[in-house]
Amino acid sequence: MSSALAAIFILLALTLGWWLGRRSGSESRPGQAASLRERIHSLHNALDRHSDDALESLSQGLALNPETLESHVHVGSLFRRRGDIEKAIQIHQGLLEQAGAEPGLVAKLHLELARDYIAGGLLGRAEQLLDELVRQGDRPISFEALDELRRIREREKDWLQAIKLAVPLLESRPQLRSSLANYYCELAQQKARDGDCNAMSELLGEALRVDRLCVRALLMRMDGELWRKDVLAAAATLRELLEQAEGYIGEVVAVLERREALHEPEILAIFRELAAAPDAAPALLVVLASLDGDNTRRWRERLLDRVRRQPSWQGMIDCLDISGAEVGDTATLSGVRSIIADLHKRAPRYRCDSCGFFGRQLHWQCPGCHTWNTLRPVTTPW
Ligand SMILES: [Zn+2]
Repeated sequence: MSSALAAIFILLALTLGWWLGRRSGSESRPGQAASLRERIHSLHNALDRHSDDALESLSQGLALNPETLESHVHVGSLFRRRGDIEKAIQIHQGLLEQAGAEPGLVAKLHLELARDYIAGGLLGRAEQLLDELVRQGDRPISFEALDELRRIREREKDWLQAIKLAVPLLESRPQLRSSLANYYCELAQQKARDGDCNAMSELLGEALRVDRLCVRALLMRMDGELWRKDVLAAAATLRELLEQAEGYIGEVVAVLERREALHEPEILAIFRELAAAPDAAPALLVVLASLDGDNTRRWRERLLDRVRRQPSWQGMIDCLDISGAEVGDTATLSGVRSIIADLHKRAPRYRCDSCGFFGRQLHWQCPGCHTWNTLRPVTTPW
């Protein structure tokens, strides 16, 4: 399609969008309004596929008013997403000049301009606009502005400020609980490095108050308890971890190993109790098969049976590891083990629930989509 034809198509699409918007404003039945919104949304999707030239010519072709604002803003943010920040700023500033004294339009356009500035790395200018929007306090724009400021603080790793900004947003955005819990964990980690254990515990308490299932906070808490030699407290945290986040057993065992706590009777008792379940995690059985005194043979059989029922590379490596001592031919065993380990090395260990990013390292914030606590250990087929 030539640029001129595309511009005509887009203009038509926007005019239709505007007309649908007007109709949706006057619709009284929620079902009809939703269907109109869907149609506007699919028009915007159609716009996304057109060239920059065609898109640009349309923003001059349609009058700005509350009904058409969404479509205009959509075009501006499309340029931002395509990386043409200058053009996005130009469009949003042009719209701002047309918006006159209409406060709703001005606020929305200021928010979009702030987003353009953020994308262009002009954080100071963005913050000025966002601070002003927060001060005005008109929801939902003021909350959107607060959230943008929170993201800036997160990027700068200014965890204290990020916490301050996230707290008032929690009620309307419960999905921020994971982020907030991780901000507390980041601060707790700083305190741990400074050797301030009390402050660390308090911060971890805050993290768990916000997100009861925050695996990172529970792991850090258990680590601190083991460091203080408080095995009873660590055992209670361990139980919580294994009951709520069994998939992270590898990380749990690593902490227990580092603190030389795997052989503690209170810890082994919890492992035994949870390993009694028919679908107990192989990693749980591995620990018992190597440490549980006279019962190790029984746990080895359980492990082999478990891996046979649900084969995995890690399960095979575990079986070889714990049987190697009893079989004479250790050279063959270690050869087979290294082949399997080599295969396993290439397999992803963690996968993001939110964007599908996968990799070998655990990140509490996904490198792909920057969401917190969405990377989960891959359990099958590896
Ligand atoms: Zn992700």
